[in-house]
Amino acid sequence: MSERSQVLAALASKIHGAVAGRVVERLLRVGEATDEQLSQALGVDVNSMRRLLNELYESRLVRYRRVRDVEQGWYLYYWRVTDEDPARILEERRRKAVEVLRRRLEYEENNTFFRCPECGRKYTFDEIADYMFRCPECGAILDAVDNSMALEKLREAIRRLEELKFE
Ligand SMILES: [Zn+2]
Repeated sequence: MSERSQVLAALASKIHGAVAGRVVERLLRVGEATDEQLSQALGVDVNSMRRLLNELYESRLVRYRRVRDVEQGWYLYYWRVTDEDPARILEERRRKAVEVLRRRLEYEENNTFFRCPECGRKYTFDEIADYMFRCPECGAILDAVDNSMALEKLREAIRRLEELKFE
């Protein structure tokens, strides 16, 4: 396998599990295959295989060509490995991860949180405003949560991801 192929197979297996890695290896070997062919070749039931292929497609590791089966009237999907540079795929994932963390940070910054010392449940201000700061479940008086550590960790994770560049 070329270096690019190895990177793609390793990415697939790291992100979606060992079977996904084998799917990519198989596709690199045969060029193109349908869901059924892959399911048979790898001994995985066809529904799980389709789910896996869709996940791989979401991650942009595979693409497909759709062909109408004239006799049966349905579509056949021929899957192949992406032509994209693995660095671009990684870059895309990095950007998505930063987005998710930013949204999480915004949520943490814009909310005040409370925890119940009795049952351990966590609430936002809005959720308990009508309960006079008592736990809606067990009635205990809630503690305000200091989330400054969580905020700092999120900011640090974002900073690190922003420094990474894959392309
Ligand atoms: Zn409680």
